[in-house]
Amino acid sequence: MTRVAVIGTGVIGAMTAWRLALRGAEVLAFDAYGPGHDRGASAGESRIFRTAYKEGAGYVPLLQRAEALWRELERGADAHLLTMCGGLTIGAPDNTDVAAVRRCAEDAGLDHEVLDTAESRKRFPQHRIDDGEVMVLDPAAGVLRPEPAVQAALRSAEAAGARILSYHPVTDATETADGWRITSNDTTFDVDHVIFAPGPWARQLAALRNLPVQARLITAYWFAARDVAAHSPESLPIAIRRHAEAGFSCFPALDGIAIKIVPHHLGWTELDGPDDLPRTSATDHARAASAAAARLLPGVTPHPMRTGTFAEGFTPDDHALLGPLPGHHRATVMTGFSGHGFKLAPAFGEIGADLALTGGTSHDIATLDPNRFPL
Ligand SMILES: Cc1cc2nc3c(=O)[nH]c(=O)nc-3n(C[C@H](O)[C@H](O)[C@H](O)COP(=O)(O)OP(=O)(O)OC[C@H]3O[C@@H](n4cnc5c(N)ncnc54)[C@H](O)[C@@H]3O)c2cc1C
Repeated sequence: MTRVAVIGTGVIGAMTAWRLALRGAEVLAFDAYGPGHDRGASAGESRIFRTAYKEGAGYVPLLQRAEALWRELERGADAHLLTMCGGLTIGAPDNTDVAAVRRCAEDAGLDHEVLDTAESRKRFPQHRIDDGEVMVLDPAAGVLRPEPAVQAALRSAEAAGARILSYHPVTDATETADGWRITSNDTTFDVDHVIFAPGPWARQLAALRNLPVQARLITAYWFAARDVAAHSPESLPIAIRRHAEAGFSCFPALDGIAIKIVPHHLGWTELDGPDDLPRTSATDHARAASAAAARLLPGVTPHPMRTGTFAEGFTPDDHALLGPLPGHHRATVMTGFSGHGFKLAPAFGEIGADLALTGGTSHDIATLDPNRFPL
């Protein structure tokens, strides 16, 4: 039986532990914190799932596989994690992201609708749009619940035999003649293969120190909806909003009170490391988010009632690093998901298990090759 250590049980490590355990590996899954914690990238109430992908049609097979695996996880863990409420990309027709979503849907033959300005205003008045702006509606989109998802994956991994070692920071991972030696809480564990899934903490592990993964701050804001029913997932799809004055992702009200936005137009501030994460947003940042809500979301009280700060690892090209760890044997790296890894996590977990157990995968992951950047 192959003994595999998974370092990090955010959504990526949790899904990988689940897929490995199902395939009979002996899994040791370490995390410095507890399942579903809010210090890294896998928390904050909601995540977007979408299939018409502005990042490229090459992701579509992986997204479709991920959707099937989300459903498998839900069934096995008796959890409701993914609500398919549809997804809107909103902006001028020639906006880069609006055009890219449309192109992806056309290239991959995905169902979609393009709503002109009048139709957009009629169907989704929750968004204020300017003359000439359009909405691209992706029916294969929805909202995921991040913390329950991580917990469901770890529960399922444990049920399949994995050891979940929460509150076990890995302080050393050293390659040996025939595997790796992992040190955590003053104990050493010898394994055949190691999966590094440390999210934004990547560069704090010696073996990953040279990888081009920058920890950055992403801030989310919740705004109270005046008509909650009109802003619930039954009425309001997830959205990617692109406008000359602001850009954000937008999530329907899941708590019966407030919608959430994650501003994109303000950039992602670099962090020295995720442990330097501020616990709330800077006043200027909050003011700009408030202005965006006042301008583009007519049905909310445009002052955030809640703020969440999270850390994520970004690569220079905003595509993850997923593959054998350069310069080492029997090691897989999965990090740098650059703000869009959650929806794909079960498929990435399957790939991590493939790589650890067989050394290859049938999924096309060429664009994620960790060797594409000079080290
Ligand atoms: C605010 C925000 C909004 C986002 N929105 C979306 C979205 O709508 N849709 C989407 O698809 N994606 C989205 N993303 C991106 C997605 O959430 C991330 O890509 C994904 O969660 C990354 O997961 P991860 O497991 O790599 O990292 P993390 O969740 O950060 O997990 C890494 C884990 O490793 C552990 N760890 C690190 N070092 C060690 C060590 N030495 N020893 C033990 N444990 C260690 C950490 O404690 C942590 O639990 C968003 C991200 C953020 C932050």
